[in-house]
Amino acid sequence: MLFIVGNREDGKALKEEVESRGVPAWYVELWGNYIVVTPPHARVEGLKTPVKAVVELKTEYQLVAREWKRDPTPVLIGDKEMREGRLFIIAGPCSVETEEQVLKTAHFVKNAGADALRGGAFKPRTSPYTFQGLGEAGLKLLAKAREETGLPITTELMDPEDMPPVVKYADAVQLGARNMQNFTLLKKLGRAGRPVLLKRGFGNTIEEWFLAAEYIALHGNGGIVLVERGIRTFDKTLRFTLDVGAIAYAKQHAHLPVIGDPSHPAGDRRYVIPLALAILAAGADGLIVEVHPDPDRAWSDAKQQLTFDQFTELVQKARELARALGKS
Ligand code: PEP
Ligand code: MN
Repeated sequence: MLFIVGNREDGKALKEEVESRGVPAWYVELWGNYIVVTPPHARVEGLKTPVKAVVELKTEYQLVAREWKRDPTPVLIGDKEMREGRLFIIAGPCSVETEEQVLKTAHFVKNAGADALRGGAFKPRTSPYTFQGLGEAGLKLLAKAREETGLPITTELMDPEDMPPVVKYADAVQLGARNMQNFTLLKKLGRAGRPVLLKRGFGNTIEEWFLAAEYIALHGNGGIVLVERGIRTFDKTLRFTLDVGAIAYAKQHAHLPVIGDPSHPAGDRRYVIPLALAILAAGADGLIVEVHPDPDRAWSDAKQQLTFDQFTELVQKARELARALGKS
């Protein structure tokens, strides 16, 4: 494919010129550029409109490739910037359960050093008989926690119909592992006006993960964070297999921030801290981790949520490691 990076202000002229050649193409404004992607074998030579670069990427993914955009893309979550070279920690319960639970957790993780609060209001549960989340009431509790602590909030969107309330309350939207290839949701998130935390599906390849990000970008949203959260392998000892190689790979081949979720692959709080450190050692820009005031009594993912004491220990170790890796 041919990939043309133009100036934002020349976008209209560039589009007209490419269209006048009769070449089918995709057009999008992203990261301060006007980008044209043409299908393989399309010939667009001798453009009159000035452009920054014309590149031919051999990969199926284009917009998110680091090959053409060497500078890492920062993503703004609320008023906090996630970017390369800085440790960003998102922490909070698996699910929003009660006002007391979410506020207590929010205050604790904030004081312990978290940058954002997570909490599920719409929950993707394996069994239909387990707690499905509080829905919009849960979003309101998250908003209250943000008001009290100043922490930006992230929460999962499962159904395109829930997009208006989720976008209204959340500073960043999580696309869960089970929905990574829900193309309807991906396209909608491209127009959401909120950054997206794109979790890798546990049965998906790295390329499929990048192409899911490509959908969001192509529909106009450049605020994408890649989240490795473990994949299915033959081994069932831990809940999933954390793919640390995917983190190292994603950092080199995509220009987007990459973070890791140590909670879901661990499936057990005893292994969360070591996995979190492995995520950072592999080059991730941050973590999204589950924390609960009384994990054993949590309404979802009870075994894997960290206690407050464990979260304090995690932040301290993560910061030491980040410093050793030259991050702030
Ligand atoms: C979660 O973050 O609580 C969650 C359900 O994650 P995943 O989509 O990665 O399973
Ligand atoms: Mn969970």
